[in-house]
Amino acid sequence: MTDKRLLAVLAHPDDESFGPGGTFARYAAEGVDVHIAIATDGVAGSVAEGYEDTLQDLVNVRTRELDAAVNILGATLHKLGYRDSGYINDPANHHPEAFINIDEHEVIGKVVALIREIRPQVVITHDETGGYYHPDHIQCWKVTTAAFQAAADPDQYPEIGPEPYQPERLYYTAIPNRAVKFFALMMRLRGQDPKHAGRNKDIDYTKLGIAPELLTASIDYRAYWDVKMAASAQHSSQGGGTSRNRLFPVWLQKLLFAKDLYIRAVPPAPPGLHETDLFANGR
Ligand SMILES: [Zn+2]
Repeated sequence: MTDKRLLAVLAHPDDESFGPGGTFARYAAEGVDVHIAIATDGVAGSVAEGYEDTLQDLVNVRTRELDAAVNILGATLHKLGYRDSGYINDPANHHPEAFINIDEHEVIGKVVALIREIRPQVVITHDETGGYYHPDHIQCWKVTTAAFQAAADPDQYPEIGPEPYQPERLYYTAIPNRAVKFFALMMRLRGQDPKHAGRNKDIDYTKLGIAPELLTASIDYRAYWDVKMAASAQHSSQGGGTSRNRLFPVWLQKLLFAKDLYIRAVPPAPPGLHETDLFANGR
């Protein structure tokens, strides 16, 4: 065990595996104390074909899937317990208890409490586009960025946690636009419309992705590919374990995809920075 600690704050049960799961698996295997906080319960998520009968019991199903996935990744799970919001224009967004409608001061306080208890050097959350503009992802970015600063301020949330604490680094997980363009091309070749992607046909792939020059860190998880896939497969109600496998052989998938990319927000990244370890004492 090292004295390195990492806290990720992500929106939904499955974001930890479908997102930077390879990073979590690798750091946990290397002895880092990895903590994953998931903001919502997954109740507004859509259900993969064949899993319609799980809708009634969706929160319990997704809780079980999340527990199993985080266990495989080797991390400690923290559930913030809010209700999902839906994607843009979803009626679920009007629910008074939807994550995006909860008082921000309260939510930031929950993340401050985690930071002051866990004392992570590195904090990870979604980037400001939320990857694909999901309101819950964007809310995570907002509250975690605020909590990163507030946790160190003795005048903010004085009633919470052991004592103020300033994590060293804040990273945003991001999808590179090159990868998105590649997927959009593959979709066109298969006769699908990348402007209306996803199970609900409401995601425009052509508008997603971060420019390469903004991505300042990459974590290679080829050696932990199987762990990430095993964790992803736990989210079977979300189609986990089925999506990429049909397109390419595993060796090609690893070559193309076994890298998580990040934007370093704090400390600000100097031009040309490219880190391969989120804990490195870089510039
Ligand atoms: Zn999500």
